[in-house]
Amino acid sequence: MSDVDDRNHFIRDIVRADLASGRVTQVVTRFPPEPNGYLHLGHAKSITLNFGLAQETGGRCNLRFDDTNPEKEDVEYIEAIERDVRWMGYAWSEGPFFASDYFDRLYDWARHLVEAGHAYVDDQDAETIRETRGTLTEPGRESPWRNRPVAENLDLFARMKAGEFPDGARVLRARIDMASGNMNLRDPILYRIRHVRHPRTGDRWCIYPTYDYAHGQSDAIEGITHSLCTLEFADHRPLYDWLVERVPTRARPRQYEFARLAITHAVLSKRRLIELVREGHVAGWDDPRMPTLAGQRRRGVPPAALRDFCRRVGVARADSRVEAGLLDHCIREYLNRHAPRRMVVLDPLKMVITTYPEGRSETFETVNNPEDPQAGTRPVTFEREIWIERGDFMEDPPKKFFRLSPGREVRLRSAYLVTCEEVIRDEGGEVVEVRCSHDPESRGGDAPDGRRVKGTLHWVAASTAIGLEVRLYDHLFAAAVPGSEGDVFDDLSPDSLQILSGAKAEPALADTKDGETVQFERQGYFCRDPDSRPGALVFNRTVGLRDSWAQAQRKTGTTGTAGRKAES
Ligand code: ATP
Ligand code: MG
Repeated sequence: MSDVDDRNHFIRDIVRADLASGRVTQVVTRFPPEPNGYLHLGHAKSITLNFGLAQETGGRCNLRFDDTNPEKEDVEYIEAIERDVRWMGYAWSEGPFFASDYFDRLYDWARHLVEAGHAYVDDQDAETIRETRGTLTEPGRESPWRNRPVAENLDLFARMKAGEFPDGARVLRARIDMASGNMNLRDPILYRIRHVRHPRTGDRWCIYPTYDYAHGQSDAIEGITHSLCTLEFADHRPLYDWLVERVPTRARPRQYEFARLAITHAVLSKRRLIELVREGHVAGWDDPRMPTLAGQRRRGVPPAALRDFCRRVGVARADSRVEAGLLDHCIREYLNRHAPRRMVVLDPLKMVITTYPEGRSETFETVNNPEDPQAGTRPVTFEREIWIERGDFMEDPPKKFFRLSPGREVRLRSAYLVTCEEVIRDEGGEVVEVRCSHDPESRGGDAPDGRRVKGTLHWVAASTAIGLEVRLYDHLFAAAVPGSEGDVFDDLSPDSLQILSGAKAEPALADTKDGETVQFERQGYFCRDPDSRPGALVFNRTVGLRDSWAQAQRKTGTTGTAGRKAES
């Protein structure tokens, strides 16, 4: 995986053609979040596209907060969004910008539209305006206020701004065509009265521009060349152009639409995400099960893997739903090369090596990552009593079980070959200990006579083991398409979080930092959670080792990008 995007898509083609023809000399894009929630994986796609195109063409990308809807906005969201864009690996050279910075100019430009007869103040209430908009098959009805004299419109608009009228009493509408086949051109609303304090402009304004008016004009003000948005805005493009052509600017930003990202087992609507947080279905915005960037960060997803994911998803003109397994695949591929390995036993079972002297110990140098020679080695200490994974022992194993069972020999990673001689149970009959002999000639885990030993187990020395809590996360939603058959929340998975409190790790795990991801050998990738305290580590499972996505791809032969097995 390289960080250079070599997959072509139609927007890149357009950008390159515009540079080649000289329509633009520098590409200027923008990422325009509304500060009314946290960024999610869908936004990551838009961020990668907008910042990526600017980066690769030597242009620039603005971060612009689309803060025209003060009721729902909050500085908490602004800060979170800035953090998340930076975390994705992108930077804005100026700004960040805010649509609210342009309120004066937007107001002047609206006056300009009024003076030119392109906009009017309508006294009808919201319901009447909705009712008279018509339908797809029937034209709308013109407002009785549509032909108001310019002077009267100017006066009323100024008084709207001055706060003379209550919320909803009047609106400013563009004067386009109530019979247009495009509903967006049926005299769309440009300004609403809202006596609401704005997080940035305070009480200075009581009229706020609509998205349709603010967005394109903000693009024009910032000199945006390519305004990229999702498909549902395609029908707004004629309005976007209509407005930009009529306000006093020579800028000609152009809007292009691409498919919104959807992903299996997840919802990506901010409204839904807010509900998940407020109703307590998750621990917060950064719960590792959340598709928010904050959640993905806490889950341990490296930003490079997320950028890779966005590139592989591509930029298309038709909506589709991407498999969550593809994201997991990208994460694994990255972490396989970058995450150091550690031995951690999630569900410990005691093993006593009876042939190994009491009180003795030995230290073996173990590679940190066989995929990365630079990662070096670390010492692991072996002794008579160790922990192994309960699931690695079976008294009565089925045919294809190659791990430990009575009489069977296995390898303890980097240490010795051991053979199970005896099983100890408690009164209830549960196995509480396995007793083994070892082959002293197999130091480092290699059979002296080259005999074949199939199973290799990870283990942790008992006297130096550190305890930790491990949080095993799974999809938040059991259904691939949440809400496809009824209520979204009915599809919440009951098993999306399992907490293991008795795990045991080799001491080197204590040297990790919060947010660092390591491979627990044979288990998966785990990220140290900020809930960790000295002596009480907490790790979140980022992703398991088994790549079912790549396996499915190989089976159906759909793509050549299927990954290698992360375990070696
Ligand atoms: P939601 O529908 O979840 O409320 P939104 O589109 O209103 O999302 P914004 O904050 O307005 O969210 O989005 C900022 C930018 O991110 C917009 O340009 C939008 O097109 C883009 N974006 C949002 N969701 C997705 C998605 N799922 N896939 C791709 N781009 C997205
Ligand atoms: Mg939006």
